[in-house]
Amino acid sequence: MADPRGFLRTRDRELPARRPVPVRLMDWREVYEAREKGTLSVVSRQAGRCMDCGIPFCHQGCPLGNLIPEWNDLVYRDDWQQASERLHATNNFPEFTGRACPAPCESSCVLGINQPPVTIKNVEVSIIDRAFEEGWVQPIAPTRQTGRSVAVVGSGPAGLAAAQQLTRAGHTVVVLERDDRLGGLLRYGIPEFKLEKRHVDRRLQQMRDEGTRFRTGVDVGGTGEGALSVEELRTRFDAVVLATGASVPRELAVPGRDARGIHSAMEYLTQANRLVEGDALSAPISAAGRDVVIIGGGDTGADCLGTALRQGARSVTTLAIGTQPPSERDATQPWPTHPVLFEVSTAHEEGGQRSYLASTTGFEVDADGAVTGLHVARTGFEGGRRVPTPGTDTILPADLVLIAMGFTGAREEGLMADLGVAMTPRGTVEHGESWETSVPGVFTAGDCARGQSLIVWAIAEGRSCAAAVDEHLMGGTSLPAPVSPGEKPVTV
Ligand SMILES: Cc1cc2nc3c(=O)[nH]c(=O)nc-3n(C[C@H](O)[C@H](O)[C@H](O)COP(=O)(O)OP(=O)(O)OC[C@H]3O[C@@H](n4cnc5c(N)ncnc54)[C@H](O)[C@@H]3O)c2cc1C
Ligand code: SF4
Repeated sequence: MADPRGFLRTRDRELPARRPVPVRLMDWREVYEAREKGTLSVVSRQAGRCMDCGIPFCHQGCPLGNLIPEWNDLVYRDDWQQASERLHATNNFPEFTGRACPAPCESSCVLGINQPPVTIKNVEVSIIDRAFEEGWVQPIAPTRQTGRSVAVVGSGPAGLAAAQQLTRAGHTVVVLERDDRLGGLLRYGIPEFKLEKRHVDRRLQQMRDEGTRFRTGVDVGGTGEGALSVEELRTRFDAVVLATGASVPRELAVPGRDARGIHSAMEYLTQANRLVEGDALSAPISAAGRDVVIIGGGDTGADCLGTALRQGARSVTTLAIGTQPPSERDATQPWPTHPVLFEVSTAHEEGGQRSYLASTTGFEVDADGAVTGLHVARTGFEGGRRVPTPGTDTILPADLVLIAMGFTGAREEGLMADLGVAMTPRGTVEHGESWETSVPGVFTAGDCARGQSLIVWAIAEGRSCAAAVDEHLMGGTSLPAPVSPGEKPVTV
């Protein structure tokens, strides 16, 4: 145990300072101050609050089963290199989760029953940042080659985790990515101010050095330039992992939806991220000087908010169809579950209005076909369903509308249809206990298998799927499998 009296000595959470809002709105860099080495003593103090519980519920809270008390103890004892080893034992990419994970581990921290929980996520990111700085993160090349080949389709966190595990197990792994850059939603979904892309590039370099091969601009099952047919895919590789994400956006079928100035969140965020990458000098969809309305109060909506504010929007309003969540756990969301609470993300700190119980029933469109506003009614509840209350419509002016209502599942046409893999009624790729789809030798992981989820689940599924592929190819495996297909977070 790190410090037997640590949780008595330090009763509060201590987190790194965020840069002042007016300053950070002027650039795209991460919102936190650069972590100075001197601040690591604060991290050690927080790690020292860990009680090394007999049953560490944080292990259950984290889908990767991160060995949280072990690395807390090592950090407290100033053995950061060992802490990095223990962290990498369960997590391929702690620099992504340590920045962008909603940290269900902290919701299930036992200290959280009567004190603020340990700042687990910040300890995690501090370990990995230090490990990279000190040069402790080195390629782990396989000690033998199996002569078997695997195609991983999709380079998001699920595909990358599967690829790294399989390369290290000695297979020849090629990651095929449709986009021009690697990383999936880490690259073109999550904005730079939450996850700077240099972290993605740094990890990709390690993977290249280990032997993973990457091909961008390859649309597997597509028809245009750079397309690779499923026949070639099957003949060239001994096994295939589908990690293509859940990219079909949930639509809002109301009058006026086709007007100019209404976009899906991913259309908007992708081109904003491309701009930061230096692909263009100005954003094709810019919020500069505009009244922006974001439909959808979740994390993607918050990413649109932070982006629109940095682009210089005149106003930004976020509409949520449901009620405002409570600020603290209530009886319906007891410890150790991950509660849905009223969240003030870094983007919310920066500006914008939030409106709850707001149902969009249509758009106002001018004679040129451009959106000028939204019809918004108060949400009512009928038989458990959320419906607009008649007679409560008001008009909210807007000249840019972003639809951030989530995703309904994986794209079926093209790759999935050509391969002939069965889909579930939820629009995800059907798979059994061994992560294998209905087509032998074709496996799946991440959002396309699970539905829209989180980076931590994508990595956990990628790791588990890799173990199943290794077993399929070799008749046995020593790779870890932290989750089983369809496993759910801790619930009551
Ligand atoms: C805007 C946004 C913000 C988010 N923020 C967070 C966050 O802060 N924290 C968090 O934990 N989660 C967040 N998420 C969720 C998280 O990003 C996803 O759960 C995760 O990226 C899923 O990983 P994946 O590997 O399954 O798929 P993806 O990351 O979606 O990657 C799939 C890849 O497959 C490629 N592909 C698809 N079809 C083909 C094909 N036919 N041929 C070749 N390549 C193909 C795609 O181009 C893509 O690169 C966010 C999601 C969005 C949309
Ligand atoms: S990956 Fe997420 S849940 Fe797991 S330890 Fe890190 S922050 Fe917590």
